[in-house]
Amino acid sequence: DKRHVVVIVGGGAAGISAAASLHMRDRSLDIAIVEPSSTHYYQPGWTMVGGGVFRPEVTSRPMSEVMPGFVSWYQQAVASVEPDENQVRLADGSVVAYQALILAPGLELNWSAIDGLEMALGSHGVTSNYRQGMAQYTWQTVQNLAQGTALFSQPPMPIKCAGAPQKAMYLSADHWRRRGALAHIDIQFHNAGAVLFGVPDYVPALQQYIDKYGIQVHFQSNLVAVNGPARKATFQMTDAEGNRHEREQAFDMLHAVPPQRAPAFIRESVLANDGGWLNLADDTLQHKAYANIFGLGDVSGTGNAKTAAAVRKQTPVVAENLIASLQGKPLPAVYLGYGSCPLTVENGRIVLAEFGYNGVLQPTFPQWVNDGTRATRAAWWLKAKQLPALYWHVMLKGREWLAKPATRDAR
Ligand code: FAD
Repeated sequence: DKRHVVVIVGGGAAGISAAASLHMRDRSLDIAIVEPSSTHYYQPGWTMVGGGVFRPEVTSRPMSEVMPGFVSWYQQAVASVEPDENQVRLADGSVVAYQALILAPGLELNWSAIDGLEMALGSHGVTSNYRQGMAQYTWQTVQNLAQGTALFSQPPMPIKCAGAPQKAMYLSADHWRRRGALAHIDIQFHNAGAVLFGVPDYVPALQQYIDKYGIQVHFQSNLVAVNGPARKATFQMTDAEGNRHEREQAFDMLHAVPPQRAPAFIRESVLANDGGWLNLADDTLQHKAYANIFGLGDVSGTGNAKTAAAVRKQTPVVAENLIASLQGKPLPAVYLGYGSCPLTVENGRIVLAEFGYNGVLQPTFPQWVNDGTRATRAAWWLKAKQLPALYWHVMLKGREWLAKPATRDAR
């Protein structure tokens, strides 16, 4: 049997950052990461690939390059967590025991919840920046469209990077505007939710772009089926009285985003909350029932925006608290729910949303970069030129730039 002081499940944004931050604090700590994939993806870059700004190659690296040299890497999926035995069971049936566990397996894109979508992806103008390798097809489709109907869908919350369905739409619309094609393209945003963005402060700035591009917005309109060859999408719409009806809509392009949920080994386990997400304390990121389990990233049931930006702030909190708990000390660090969403409203400008629990604004950048009421060039420069390097060389290396955690007293 294998055993380690710390076992981390997942080698994505959250798992690698957590390992690096722990190692920064205690170089002797015995850490293992369980991660099946041989590639690590920088998913925030996929929006930029879909908008023709980044080449797809810059959004991935071999996992072997990202995996820190100091960890033991099990290249397998975890099949189940056995928290009462302090062990995880791997896909091949073997077990790895831990003193402390960090759960960071991300979330699952539930493609099959939308009838016909998975089969249709990648042809007939059906695309999704959420699909690994598909953002390039988004950009091709956008460039090839000179007239017709373009649909963009957003599923029920929560999803990772809640602004990303709209980002794809704005960047597409901006391209058509520059090409002089905007007047010939009917753009529709079908949003399963009832608001443009969950934090009201940012809505006016976004609404300006909806108006500028002439986008028709349908709230409470949920994509339920796609027929690629026939180029038809079916939406379930809910009216003001709560009545539901289905509406079919022909399209020339469809950018679809599937509903999202925690992976089954979390969702269907004792570790989940009522919503099926990892049941963590909002502030300490410690599991509510198992004191030696922590979690971070998209799997978390805390009410923050599921973003890599959130991971940047969660990482030092988990590192500090886990080390304190191994020493039998009280947990010192708290997470205030920070998340961020750089809304790419046009090629060259971004509305930078930065907020914590309950939509409380938490800007880390000065107002000339982050002015919630308008799009800025500085925020675009940050996203296009700085954030990728910040991700690979700062966050994944455990350098906690602008991420100092709050302490209990500061709350
Ligand atoms: P991931 O990075 O997805 O990593 C999860 C890892 O766990 C994967 O490597 C996976 O292989 C592994 N895993 C899964 N199941 C198991 C298992 N059973 N056993 C072991 N390992 C497992 N964030 C921003 O901050 N800004 C943005 O602008 C932004 N834009 C985005 C745009 C798009 C289109 C998308 C898709 C995401 C965007 N995000 C953005 C969100 C960001 O990518 C995620 O929030 C971030 O990657 C979360 O990190 P994570 O480690 O929790 O999950």
